[in-house]
Amino acid sequence: MHVHAILKTKAANRKGPSVFTADPNASLTDVARMLADNNIGAVVVATPDGRVAGIFSERDIVRHIAKSGAGVLGTPIANLMTRAVITCTAEDTIDTVMTKMTRGRFRHVPVIGPDARLVGLVSIGDVVKHHVEEIEHEATALREYITQPH
Ligand code: AMP
Repeated sequence: MHVHAILKTKAANRKGPSVFTADPNASLTDVARMLADNNIGAVVVATPDGRVAGIFSERDIVRHIAKSGAGVLGTPIANLMTRAVITCTAEDTIDTVMTKMTRGRFRHVPVIGPDARLVGLVSIGDVVKHHVEEIEHEATALREYITQPH
C-alpha cells in the first residue's frame, strides 16, 4: 500500500487543512497553542511558496523548555525547529515511511509533490491505522476462504 491511500482517507475524514503549517516567526507559545487546539503532534514550518523549511513537534517543546526554561516560550520557531527534514512522496510505500520513522526515531513525515511543495503529512498514527486495517482485510479474506465450500 502507498502513501496516497493514507492521504485519500485523511482527505475524506478531514475537518481542518491537509497539513497544519506554522510561520517561521511564530513563537514557541503560538505553536504549542496550535498543537493543542488542533489535537496534533507536529507542524511543518513552511516557506511562503509552500516548501518545507523545518518541522517542530511536541517533543521539541519539551526538549527546549527542559534545556532553556520558560524564557524560550517567546522564541521564534525558526530558531528552534529541526531543519534537516526527512520527507516522502505520495508514491512511496507505507513500509518505506515506517522504515524512515524507525531509523530516524520520529513520528511525522511530510509528503511533498513533484515540485517539492508540501502536499500532506503522515503520522505514526496514520501508519498504524492503515496497517491494522490491512491485517483486518487479510483476516476477513482468509476467514471467507476457509469457511466457503470447496
Ligand atoms: P516526533 O517523534 O515527530 O515528535 O519528533 C521527534 C524529533 O524529530 C523532533 O525533534 C522533531 O523536530 C524531529 N522530527 C520529526 N519529524 C521529522 C522528520 N520527518 N524529519 C526529521 N526530523 C523530524
